[in-house]
Amino acid sequence: MSKTMNVSEIFGENVFSDRVMQERLPKKIYRELKKTMNEGKELDPEVADVVAEAMKNWAVEKGATHYTHIFQPLTGVTAEKHDSFITAPREDGTVLMEFSGKELIKGEPDASSFPSGGLRATFEARGYTAWDCTSPAYVREDAAGAILCIPTAFCSYTGEALDQKTPLMRSMEAVNEQALRLLRLFGNTTSKRVTPSVGPEQEYFLVDKQKYLQRKDLIFTGRTLFGAMPPKGQELDDHYFGTIRQRIASYMKDVDEELWKLGVSAKTQHNEVAPAQHELAPIYAEANIAVDHNQLVMKILKKTACQHGLHCLLHEKPFAGVNGSGKHNNWSITTDDGINLLDPGKTPHENIQFLLVLTCILKAVDEHADLLRESAADPGNDHRLGANEAPPAIISVFLGEQLEDVIEQLISTGMATHSKKGGVLHTGVKTLPDFAKDATDRNRTSPFAFTGNKFEFRMVGSRDSIASPNTVLNTIAAEAFAEACEVLEKAEDFDLAVHDLIKKYATEHQRIIFNGNGYSDAWVEEAGRRGLPNIRSMVDAVPCLTTEKTVAMFERFKVFSRTELEARAAIKYETYAKDINIEARTMIDIAGKQIIPAVIRYTKTLGDTISSVTSAGVEADVQTELLREASALLAETKRALNELIRADAAAAEKEEGEEQARAFHDEVMPAMQALRAPVDKLEMIVDKEIWPMPSYGDLLFEV
Ligand code: ADP
Ligand code: MG
Repeated sequence: MSKTMNVSEIFGENVFSDRVMQERLPKKIYRELKKTMNEGKELDPEVADVVAEAMKNWAVEKGATHYTHIFQPLTGVTAEKHDSFITAPREDGTVLMEFSGKELIKGEPDASSFPSGGLRATFEARGYTAWDCTSPAYVREDAAGAILCIPTAFCSYTGEALDQKTPLMRSMEAVNEQALRLLRLFGNTTSKRVTPSVGPEQEYFLVDKQKYLQRKDLIFTGRTLFGAMPPKGQELDDHYFGTIRQRIASYMKDVDEELWKLGVSAKTQHNEVAPAQHELAPIYAEANIAVDHNQLVMKILKKTACQHGLHCLLHEKPFAGVNGSGKHNNWSITTDDGINLLDPGKTPHENIQFLLVLTCILKAVDEHADLLRESAADPGNDHRLGANEAPPAIISVFLGEQLEDVIEQLISTGMATHSKKGGVLHTGVKTLPDFAKDATDRNRTSPFAFTGNKFEFRMVGSRDSIASPNTVLNTIAAEAFAEACEVLEKAEDFDLAVHDLIKKYATEHQRIIFNGNGYSDAWVEEAGRRGLPNIRSMVDAVPCLTTEKTVAMFERFKVFSRTELEARAAIKYETYAKDINIEARTMIDIAGKQIIPAVIRYTKTLGDTISSVTSAGVEADVQTELLREASALLAETKRALNELIRADAAAAEKEEGEEQARAFHDEVMPAMQALRAPVDKLEMIVDKEIWPMPSYGDLLFEV
């Protein structure tokens, strides 16, 4: 084990980075490639050949024998197919290591096993992967050796996106174009590109591997389907906590090292609210790279856990009643020359531009709250959103005291003449205030919070790709900017028009602003009065993917076609039904084969005890009471098990799609709850020696 780690030396050592390309590519080729990257053009085949050769040589020096096109199908995780560099043996029996430009640019995985939502039925059966040269290639080391990984997009032969990356990149293009258009109106002639930046904070749980292996529910579904809460007041002694820290600390060190080698700037690691829960935050990066890096983070968290005798749970709600895991998706938009459009700025002029951008985002979030909510929907997140200690399922925006005050002044008087903290007034347009960055406010209960120079979208599930939320954010921002530009481009008095537009947007979309406690019941009622959607489940969220409003927006900015959206909705329903079906079947298996037999053993022991105690002439009241209680719960368990078997079979019979997903949600989920209830009660009374699996206490505290 290395004593000290030289971070600057190892950082990015396994990445085919800009520096490596400069070193290894002929100047002309390097320039061509950069141009392609910056302008998003197609790569010239001759350039590709040279790049591929250099990439292969570099990778082979690092021990790579294979390459793979990494892509992100609609399963939410990454997929890959490995090819070796080896060519067909030559006459003398030797082989060469080769990698052509063609192989770099385009690959053909067997697409048939990935979800396509019917796209393949209507179109070409095959799909291809295409190199996304804006996200660097890297060498990944694992048990199978080293492998050159090439980030790619995955499309059908007719161009429909079969993955998460393609629409994300299209949305980045859309926001780039519309944000630049807006900046030009404000007199900016220097910025050339606007890119969304993303910093996702990743939450996860670590449990002991051996204990994990004793829980079929964790193995098959990633969450516990049974489990009574550990007794209240269970505290860890200091010594014990110390041991935990050692193991986790060494795990985190290894995670950081692996990630740094891959050029992922893992920055903060800390313990989270729940026991055994932790968080990793990277330094933010361009959206596209952040998405790829987040996939790597999830992979490395899992892989490193194995090496430490641990298991990493990325599920949104591994333990009922315990804090769940999410991803805080920090998002901002910045120009190539370093202007953050969400930074309030230092001059009044900048303040005005900022206020317009801000109110555009308010408008976007209000108008497409359903879509944002949908982008964070997955079966696991259904247990988290709106539950204990998680953002509510209602979308609202937190602005902080100062900004909210500015907005309120604008709305009520048409002017904002002062700022709560800024004090002095320097504005060019005299009706807008000058204000400083507000760093004091902190609100942890808002699903969409402004945090000084970025928005933090906190609904995203811990397992999910962040591609989809960012695709939505980029596109709804692009739409709002485009609509603002349409008004401003026609304006005679630009300053006045900007002022009026800010006021208009603020007034029309004030209902989305909420600075209070998002976890409270009062907010649910208040949101209802405001007419904000409260979409409680994934099944209820999916329909918004195909509304006319959604289709029109995505088609306008060429992010999704109607067909692609319909395909995505179909996949979501299918995924939901499959996931719940697996959970239900796992429960049926555990209840029937492990829990009921264990309880029968327990009641037999009790019965035997009662016989021997009473035959000794002593009363066995306690034993008899326990036996009655256990037997009653056992009967309830069996009834609930039968009902779950019935409900699951009925749902499975339904036609695939919305109807089936709803059956799983409306019928199977409650049946699962009904089975869990008596089992969790039984766990509290049955002898621990007999209970067939580790408890919550064992899993959460004995890591
Ligand atoms: P907190 O836990 O208080 O929300 P952290 O420091 O853990 O804050 O995480 C903040 C995240 O936001 C980090 O990943 C950081 O890189 C990211 N971030 C900071 N500034 C920006 C920005 N301008 N755009 C996008 N993400 C950002
Ligand atoms: Mg955060």
